[in-house]
Amino acid sequence: MPDRLARWLWLTHFLLWLTAGAWAAPVPGEHAESVSRVRVGVLAVLGAEAAVAEWSPLIRRLENALPGWQVSLVQLDHAGLRAAVQRGDLEFVITNPGHYVELEADLGVSRILSLDAGGGRSPQRALGAAVIVPAASVIRDLSDLRGKRLAIVGRDAFGGYQMVWGALDGLGLQPERDLAELYEVGLPMDRVVAALDAGKADAGVLRSCLLESRPEWADRFRVVAPQAVAGFPCATSTPLYPDWPLAALRHTSPDLARAVAIALLGMTRETDGLAWAVPADYQSVHELFRRLQIGPYAYLREPTLMALAARYWPWVAALALLVAAWALYTLRVEHLVHRRTAELRAAQEQAEHMARLSVLGELSGTLAHELNQPLATITNYAHSLRRRADNQRLTDAAVREAAAEIAEQAERAAGILGRIRHFARKRRNSCERLVPAEVVGESVELFRGMLARAPAVAVEDALPAGTVIEADRLQIQQVLLNLLKNAHDASEGLPDARRRIHIRLTPADAGLSPGVLIAVRDFGRGLDAAAHGRLFESFFTTKPDGLGLGLSICRSIAEAHGGRLDAAPAADGPGWVFTLNLPAVLAPATPTVLLDHDPNR
Ligand code: ADP
Repeated sequence: MPDRLARWLWLTHFLLWLTAGAWAAPVPGEHAESVSRVRVGVLAVLGAEAAVAEWSPLIRRLENALPGWQVSLVQLDHAGLRAAVQRGDLEFVITNPGHYVELEADLGVSRILSLDAGGGRSPQRALGAAVIVPAASVIRDLSDLRGKRLAIVGRDAFGGYQMVWGALDGLGLQPERDLAELYEVGLPMDRVVAALDAGKADAGVLRSCLLESRPEWADRFRVVAPQAVAGFPCATSTPLYPDWPLAALRHTSPDLARAVAIALLGMTRETDGLAWAVPADYQSVHELFRRLQIGPYAYLREPTLMALAARYWPWVAALALLVAAWALYTLRVEHLVHRRTAELRAAQEQAEHMARLSVLGELSGTLAHELNQPLATITNYAHSLRRRADNQRLTDAAVREAAAEIAEQAERAAGILGRIRHFARKRRNSCERLVPAEVVGESVELFRGMLARAPAVAVEDALPAGTVIEADRLQIQQVLLNLLKNAHDASEGLPDARRRIHIRLTPADAGLSPGVLIAVRDFGRGLDAAAHGRLFESFFTTKPDGLGLGLSICRSIAEAHGGRLDAAPAADGPGWVFTLNLPAVLAPATPTVLLDHDPNR
């Protein structure tokens, strides 16, 4: 059996290599260069795939041509040969074209000869692959392989698969995707035929000329889509590629390479069983590998963003749609939130405005009286002037006095109206830096201006100089006016000693950030215990004409400023203390003066 013979031959070569390797192993300490060695590595292929089964004539030839040199043959598999080249353990390497271009690209080996198979085959176009099918198969074309099982030597076999892969790729077929199965049988190539016989595959890949060399196969199988190539004696399903090269390693001296080339070119098929020619061009193998993105071009397979996008475009599109939908949804939500916030702000401003008007409304009963006074004074002076004019008693001095008084009273009335108008005006909220005592002063002024019999208001400023708050002036005035009005209501009808209000400004000592406390204390009737907890509830009121909104709005204003509004019964006598706590922007570390608070003063 030729197969058994080939295996036996391989074994003998292997043993030969072992002994040769033992001879060739450098003596420890000896410099490798000092031994004149020619180590030829050969890709070990089994059985029918081996185009050349017998390399010993080559060794003999070299031994004759290079007397005194130690010539050895090393048969290795793909990985072993590559490792030996990498280590520099060889001077020459003989391998298949596919493996050669990898070694050339990665490790810099360079061909000096190519096998010359003869028989009409040129070294440039010597190797092809035949896709074979049982003679009765319906598969006629390579494209008929779609959905079929293909027996191959292995995915990394050049003649046993990659050439056919290239041909299928040229037809737009991707074996891994479009074939039902790539059935790897390994070496020897006879196994491909065995797989077809066993019905494990619908088609198989053999190197060209193998089928023709086995008459027992030739009538049972046929080659799919056989191409006729002038001068090529066998059927091939793929384009032809150059024959095996012999290549020198990087470290091999050019003189040795030349001597080896000359010696081997002298071999003839007739006497030696194999022959060599000048090196073929392996560009076609490079092109095949580049197209298939394998071997030295495997890096092209690394996924680029575009390649990934092209491959997973339905996912990419779905993701993009999702992102777009999410973005739209977010925009919409944001828009709604904006609109709602604006509406809320408008409603809040409206409510505050209403509350201001309500405070004014409650105070307006006395406003008429308040305005009455300057108007009555003005009227009196006007009448008195007319009477004097009628009686011819109008002196310059009297006119001047009356005019001055009228002007003063008119200004007083205008001042009252101006402050009210300013307070009642509809406006947008605005924040500015304020000196607390100033705002308190303005509020007291407004309060007094609106009440004919306003209770006495004492203001005690115990804040360190330079204390500033950042707040909306009118809103703070609104809070203070509310507190003053409530204090007034709580003490109405009481003796004068209790109809007074005390406002005290102190630094807030609690918390980490500086703050300002404005405490408004009255000496009024206070509240029964049941009402304590409900003070700040909306619509809680104990007054017949009260709205019950003042304190709840005041508290929300305080909170909008990052502060608080609290209430408690006075600790040292009748009445309540309402405390407005606001954060301060600027305040020296220690207060300068702290006046004693005397509620009875
Ligand atoms: P209104 O003044 O319209 O009643 P407020 O919210 O300003 O609304 O006050 C709610 C209630 O809180 C008042 O009706 C009153 O009973 C009570 N109150 C507020 N301030 C004081 C105070 N200084 N002393 C006693 N009770 C007060």
